[in-house]
Amino acid sequence: MDSCTLKAYAKINIGLDVTGRTDNGYHLLKTVMQQVDLYDVITIERAEKGINFSCDSKDVPSDDTNLAVKAAKLMTETYGIKEGVNISLNKNIPVAAGMAGGSTDGAAVIIGMNKVFDLDLTMQEMIDTGVKIGADIPFCIQGGCAIAEGIGEKLRELDNRTEMYTLIAKPPINVSTVHVYKTLKWQEVIHPDMDRVIKGIMAGSMDDIVAGMGNVLESVTCSEYDIINELKKSMLDLGASGSLMSGSGPTVFGLFKNKEEAMSAEKRLKDLYPDVFVKATGIIR
Ligand code: ATP
Repeated sequence: MDSCTLKAYAKINIGLDVTGRTDNGYHLLKTVMQQVDLYDVITIERAEKGINFSCDSKDVPSDDTNLAVKAAKLMTETYGIKEGVNISLNKNIPVAAGMAGGSTDGAAVIIGMNKVFDLDLTMQEMIDTGVKIGADIPFCIQGGCAIAEGIGEKLRELDNRTEMYTLIAKPPINVSTVHVYKTLKWQEVIHPDMDRVIKGIMAGSMDDIVAGMGNVLESVTCSEYDIINELKKSMLDLGASGSLMSGSGPTVFGLFKNKEEAMSAEKRLKDLYPDVFVKATGIIR
């Protein structure tokens, strides 16, 4: 195969708890990650030499700090690839949103290079390689829905049986993930009931999911940015069964029981917040 084009899906966190800290200062998580039908498009192509990267967005770095480039470098070195690679990225996922936009591009490059260079790697081999450049990359390679623990890299696949549609809203503010974790007082906050969320997801019960879900990182971001609480409230007013911030924010999502309700809420929310990126999407199972 000379080239391939892949969809790199964004994720939301249907609940995020911090359960402790490692000796070297990382926070230990318990979260449910769910891919949504919002994606970047990546084309990977064999080239004579070098890692040649192009992107249609100015919001992402185009040097070797881009996770797509990092992933290509890692693959080239790890598997002794002698040829070069062209990577072209069509960016649709909002940047620095708490939706793993960079990690999913890195994961897609790993999957794409495995195909294009006939490496024959198993999913586990790709995961073991990918984790070296980011804790969210294993989930982005595995896809679908999963419980993530450790620093996000320990995965258990989840069969999401819930009729679920999401409404994504990313306000035009920048939240620093490092700042959020530094400021978090994880021992003092109210913890979500992640086991109830997981039970709800497996049983297809939106009621259990909503009753259990919470994101401890909201304790930092919601007190700093009113817009996050405002968006959450608007989502509920517009018919969402539940609403939460994803990851370290600032993206907020609402969970809807059907597509029609999510689509009509999308229209209303766009009118209410013209500066906010708003999109109704399904989930990837
Ligand atoms: P996460 O949910 O994993 O914390 P995020 O959605 O909050 O990630 P990203 O969209 O991955 O954040 O962007 C974080 C930073 O990563 C950006 O500010 C950008 O400089 C850098 N970055 C590197 N590669 C990419 C990429 N391919 N797409 C987007 N951002 C990238």
